Amino acid sequence: MTFATSNPLLLPWNTPYGLPPFEAIDAAHFEPAFEHALAQHLAEVDAIAGNPEAPSFDNTIAAIDRCGRLLDRIDSLFHNLTASDTSPALQGVETRMAPVLAAHSSTFFMNRALFERIDVLHAQRDQLGLTAEQRRVLERYHFDFVRAGAKLAPAAQTRYAQIMGRLAALTTRFGQNVLADESAFQLVLRTEADAAGLPEFVRAATRQAALDRGLGDGMLVTLSRSHIVPFLTFSERRDLREQAWRAWTSRGEHDGDHDNREVAREILTLRNEQARLHGFACYADYALADTMAGSQAAVTALLKQVWEPAKTRAADEQQALQALALSRGETITLEPWDWRFYAEKVRQVRYDLDEATIKPYFPLARMVEAVFDCAQRLFGLRFVEQPAIKVYHPDVKVYEVRAADDALIGVFLHDNFARSSKRSGAWMSSFRRQSRNGGGVIPIVINNNNFAKGAPGEPTLLSFDDAQTLFHEFGHGLHGLLSNVTYERVSGTAVLRDFVELPSQLFEHWLSEPEVLKRHARHFQTGEAIPDALIEKLHRARLFNQGYETVRYTASALVDMAAHALTSTPAPDIVAFERDELERIGAPAAAGMNHRMTHFQHLFAGSGYAAGYYVYLWAEVLDADGFDAFVEAGSPFDPAVAARLREFIYASGNSLEPSAAYRAFRGRGPTPEPMLKQRGLVDQS
Ligand SMILES: [Zn+2]
Repeated sequence: MTFATSNPLLLPWNTPYGLPPFEAIDAAHFEPAFEHALAQHLAEVDAIAGNPEAPSFDNTIAAIDRCGRLLDRIDSLFHNLTASDTSPALQGVETRMAPVLAAHSSTFFMNRALFERIDVLHAQRDQLGLTAEQRRVLERYHFDFVRAGAKLAPAAQTRYAQIMGRLAALTTRFGQNVLADESAFQLVLRTEADAAGLPEFVRAATRQAALDRGLGDGMLVTLSRSHIVPFLTFSERRDLREQAWRAWTSRGEHDGDHDNREVAREILTLRNEQARLHGFACYADYALADTMAGSQAAVTALLKQVWEPAKTRAADEQQALQALALSRGETITLEPWDWRFYAEKVRQVRYDLDEATIKPYFPLARMVEAVFDCAQRLFGLRFVEQPAIKVYHPDVKVYEVRAADDALIGVFLHDNFARSSKRSGAWMSSFRRQSRNGGGVIPIVINNNNFAKGAPGEPTLLSFDDAQTLFHEFGHGLHGLLSNVTYERVSGTAVLRDFVELPSQLFEHWLSEPEVLKRHARHFQTGEAIPDALIEKLHRARLFNQGYETVRYTASALVDMAAHALTSTPAPDIVAFERDELERIGAPAAAGMNHRMTHFQHLFAGSGYAAGYYVYLWAEVLDADGFDAFVEAGSPFDPAVAARLREFIYASGNSLEPSAAYRAFRGRGPTPEPMLKQRGLVDQS
């Protein structure tokens, strides 16, 4: 084991804050380090399971919570790198390790001696004199083990472990396939005519993309969302819009090595078998048993509440777009690659508002100051940049996070730009989660975005949507950073998944507050604050195109739920299934979906959002209702409301039952009306 001792992943990390020693780490270090850490974790678990003393909370539950820290450290680093800055070497490790890690997880959860100890404690939980958090942690571990197959008969456990191993391999491949299609595509704009209609900020982003991809001083549109959406919005070239749209929406749907059609189908088939082993008819029932919603019926009721009114609104919107096209003398049938283009034109006419006048007021650097300032005004936090600390990519910034009393409470990494080694989307994750059990550690949290970087020497300008994404992910980041619990199992974002979008979506509200905009939305050249008239226009246009947005989201959520509610196997061809399902629910063809099945990474590049794309809307009921607490108090920074928000929502992690946490914050349960109003789906009077 001489290699193990020289492997930086296994040595102590004597680095600032215990950050990974990125410069010393090579892809080749991971497999031997995993092997060592997995064995160490199993030895720790065996010691807990084989303890001759009777089970107690401390020698069993707290001990489980403390063990496996070396593995966690390596695993977190590995998954952050494969998401944010992957390489063929890391992808190779990922492919080989996915089934190994899944098998390890099965071995852990199916350890009979260990589960017996947990089960004994669970049965005695009222007599153990536990704190509220300890009781919740015990219940969570018990439930985790049951849901991972601890109670299954031996033969069923063997099959269960096989399924989990295969699912790990398939979900890894699914994500890699999407990334491959995204990296492979490039739309080169060769002439001025190819760039017709593109405002300067879009051109700047295409020039930067050309540089990034080694194409010199050309113009290049990639499949990054922050390229595609502006291109579809502004390009006068209908033929190129169609080309870009088709490439974007057919990711994962091409014959050959990166085809996700069979991958997704096999995932669905195996998930159904997984659910049936637990005694559920379908995967949706299994997944929803561990959510606030609790059942398909509750989810369907929520989605139905928005689906019909959203379709009506989208139909009105479509008519207006069609009319505008006609007024330009264009007799076209509106196609999905036309919607954003004409919507932008209608927006300019109706609200005198265009993206190109908004963006100069939303430079990335100022918006980052804005999220930090809101965190300071709400929670007393200070973010102090540490420019000397280098991590895995020069674009990533590192900050110390200090509380009002100057105590260091966490470390925050901000990785904002798109690159071909990063997966698409925006997300928060951790290198280390907060806990006080076993030494006590502060969290190391990261936010990833995929903003199109401004050309050299030019600032990165965000759209209002981009700025909202920045606030959203930062809200998740605060959920990790403000975590204040004892046990890691209930730390930060380790909450039920239809609660997890509450801290993030809630935080988006502050971006729209006029006092935040006046302070931070400043013109990148003149420093002038955004004019009141422009704020007013932004607010008036708030509901514009919401039919389109709601239809695209809800169609994706309904198709997700339908696919995971299938009770027969094998799963059908997913492209045909999606088409039939969209037809059945009457989805408007010109609007499309947020994510088609062949690249729906929420569902298939992991299991976190499988039968769970609805969670954004579920959490929106909570965030719309929750922000009203500040409105009622008369200030978006009301200190009493902010203190309750911190204690019960951002700091409590999963130590409280989520409905109870919400009630403790709000003084009552949520109502759906503010969400419907926020989406413009009820009378605005
Ligand atoms: Zn989110």
